[in-house]
Amino acid sequence: MDNCLFCKIIRGEIPSYKIYEDEYTYAFLDISNDSNGHMLVVPKKHCENLLDCDSQTLANLTATIQKLGKHLTENCGFEGMNVITNCGKASGQEVFHLHFHILPRRKDDGISVFAPLNKNDESLEEICACLKVQQKESNKADEASNDRNIVLYTDGACSGNPGMGGWGAILMYKGVEKVLSGGEKETTNNRMELTAVIKGLEKIKGSQHVDVYSDSAYVVNAFLQDWISSWRSRGWKTTKGEVQNLDLWQQLIALTEKHDVVWHKVKGHADNEYNNRCDALAVGEIEKMRKTL
Ligand code: 5GP
Ligand code: ZN
Repeated sequence: MDNCLFCKIIRGEIPSYKIYEDEYTYAFLDISNDSNGHMLVVPKKHCENLLDCDSQTLANLTATIQKLGKHLTENCGFEGMNVITNCGKASGQEVFHLHFHILPRRKDDGISVFAPLNKNDESLEEICACLKVQQKESNKADEASNDRNIVLYTDGACSGNPGMGGWGAILMYKGVEKVLSGGEKETTNNRMELTAVIKGLEKIKGSQHVDVYSDSAYVVNAFLQDWISSWRSRGWKTTKGEVQNLDLWQQLIALTEKHDVVWHKVKGHADNEYNNRCDALAVGEIEKMRKTL
């Protein structure tokens, strides 16, 4: 999610006071500094709120909340905590990336979670040296893993649907780009979108962390909304017959089992430079084929 505030915080594009991080979740101090240690726990996988979140992501989040809660009560002198999540504008949600607020609590601390919280000058930084240590360690781990990160942008295009199609992919690793593209005479837009990701992931050796950026809701939501699990549990059948493009889905699923893929949906034909370049690659392939007819 290119423009999502918390996705940017997770990617390190906006600074945050990181408290904890693992493969699936990220916790950082709330900027409001209104109650001692007010922190937010978010999934790395973007979803809007609890209502559109898949159960695995939710399980990862609750595991992190529990870990932090145990740490706060066992090591930091807190006696309890409130865990709150807002769902939707009507509830007061302001940032539309799922987050749980953790309010560490002490007996008689005067906090009322149902009343507006007051600014609090005492910050967690002073009271919880152990969390700070944890932060330093995870920063170190980050530095080590940052240069392993691979980014893959993809796009597919079709002239007629079905019709002549093309795909484009840009792989980026340590600032080096690899540009890939291809086409097919008779295909569909969705097949080209899937093919672009497959071809990109196939080029990556070993097992890597890959951030995949695609403007195809069909491809990205299959993972973010976990359509795959329901297809699998129904024997790859829908009410209309076999899941469409099953051959490609199976290739892609195998690749996502090999690599640690984080999916990002980007807005198509907007101002994302790499998405636009992938689109141009895909359209270029269609034009090349047309000329050889
Ligand atoms: P919501 O009202 O959506 O449940 O909560 C959003 C929370 O995000 C608020 O408590 C707000 O203070 C916090 N927040 C908004 N922008 C930032 C930011 O840039 N950094 C951090 N750390 N917290 C933020
Ligand atoms: Zn997000």
